[in-house]
Amino acid sequence: MTLRSHEPIIAIATAPGRGGIGVVRISGGNLEPLLARLFKAPLTPRHAHYLPFNDEDGKAMDAGIALFFKGPQSYTGEDVLELQGHGGPAVLRRVLERCIEAGKELGLRHAEPGEFTQRAFLNERLDLAQAEAVADLIDASSEAAARSAMASLSGAFSARVNALSERIVRLRMLVEATLDFPEEEIDFLEKYQARSALEEIQGDLAALTAQARQGMILREGLHVVLAGQPNVGKSSLLNALAGDDIAIVTPVAGTTRDKVIQQIHIQGVPLHIVDTAGLRDTDDTVESIGIARTWAEIEKASVIIHLQDARAQTDELDTAITRRLPARTPVLEVFNKIDLLDAAQQAKFLAGTPREPAAATGAASGATSGKVDAHAQTGLALGISAKTGAGLDILRQKLLDIAGWSPSAESPWLARERHLHALNSAGEHLALAAEHASQNDRVLDLFAEELRLAHEDLCAITGQFTGDDLLGEIFSSFCIGK
Ligand code: GDP
Ligand code: ZN
Repeated sequence: MTLRSHEPIIAIATAPGRGGIGVVRISGGNLEPLLARLFKAPLTPRHAHYLPFNDEDGKAMDAGIALFFKGPQSYTGEDVLELQGHGGPAVLRRVLERCIEAGKELGLRHAEPGEFTQRAFLNERLDLAQAEAVADLIDASSEAAARSAMASLSGAFSARVNALSERIVRLRMLVEATLDFPEEEIDFLEKYQARSALEEIQGDLAALTAQARQGMILREGLHVVLAGQPNVGKSSLLNALAGDDIAIVTPVAGTTRDKVIQQIHIQGVPLHIVDTAGLRDTDDTVESIGIARTWAEIEKASVIIHLQDARAQTDELDTAITRRLPARTPVLEVFNKIDLLDAAQQAKFLAGTPREPAAATGAASGATSGKVDAHAQTGLALGISAKTGAGLDILRQKLLDIAGWSPSAESPWLARERHLHALNSAGEHLALAAEHASQNDRVLDLFAEELRLAHEDLCAITGQFTGDDLLGEIFSSFCIGK
């Protein structure tokens, strides 16, 4: 993908459909011959020209603003032409076709998804983490996510990664220089205080990783599963949580019966909530597809809410539900409809005291003891009322806590799983380096090698030495025209 990148590309950059304005965007190594064919007079770079957009016969198809950016002073680093016309699909398509016709000799072709941004990356206008932030900003589902995407786009995250990288490289250079003088090896660690330098780097990497985790939660959201028997109030709870989150309760695209996942936000954190309503045995094919999907979602769950009726006893069905859920996932035991209890019982539930007899006992046998432990981990038997809203704030907070979300943390950049993976891997290599450094029989070349690997991990985040297949994967998920 890397090197055929100089033929010019074109796309409609605005969203499909009708709009006040629509933008056709072109990028290429040299667009001047194309400009000469499209317009009577030359365009001054970075000036807005109000012009007719003419067809082959000189008849106006539209009139609008033409903006020309001479490379490298442009988004892609190449020549860029933007035509801002009226935002109707037919008129934009005509303008696009006309440009393709006029640019035939230059090899002008339709852009692939993300190809403009990919060129910006290849021409070093952006690093890879920033390029990803472009897509994340467009896809941001909450204001908090958008703010963080913008922080990444402006390079805040990359700057931190680069600063750490440089410190690792500096340390590594010292080691490697020493390696050439074996008689000095012994002194090296003391002489350069290498161990404390490494410890500091490790500490800063850990802090960066913690923030990246926040950024990832903000980007990917949390997968929450609502499990429980019929009529305990799962749908009511989902609606109550959605509350005044106006932009939400968006059914995920799929079959109409497949409305099992809905997205809501808590403090700007997206939550993908799976209602397990569909979890029945069924012979209906369409429905069983929905059920398979539900289970696939449950496998991804970050938290499970096991909802029960506060008035009822935990019975075999609840135990069966619990048993079927993945054991590694934290479970919140939530008891709904406390508005139907007397005041004393309500108070007990709101204080987080498990009802009596204790929820986790009941039919608990050896087979479920794993789950009982998992419950103990979250330490919660929470009472709520989906109807009155009692206890819901505590529930919201618990959901975020379990996911490790801390809104008080410094506003993070948006991060991807890929970034977190690289940071974790770098951390592991630094830990190995520290191990080598602390051995009596100090193995400096191994120490250096671990530093090199940690450095490589960090470079993968910003896209130095990144393989073509990863680049292809990243940019192909963009929308066309970006
Ligand atoms: P689901 O089958 O688990 O999704 O349960 P629904 O959300 O459909 O609720 C079943 C019934 O319980 C409905 O009649 C709800 O109005 C009622 N319900 C749900 N939550 C509460 C609650 O907190 N208090 C009371 N009093 N009724 C509730
Ligand atoms: Zn329901």
